[in-house]
Amino acid sequence: MSMHVHVRVNHGLAVTEDGDLVEEYRCGCGATWTNVHRADEGQPEF
Ligand SMILES: [Zn+2]
Repeated sequence: MSMHVHVRVNHGLAVTEDGDLVEEYRCGCGATWTNVHRADEGQPEF
């Protein structure tokens, strides 16, 4: 099997119930990655 270089294609954005922003990336081979941006990072508000 030849070496495969993944190509990350942005597959969309989603927001969880907690308000976190989740980016999803997919390669044509089926591999997926997620990039989570925590909404509660930074200044906590209570
Ligand atoms: Zn791939």
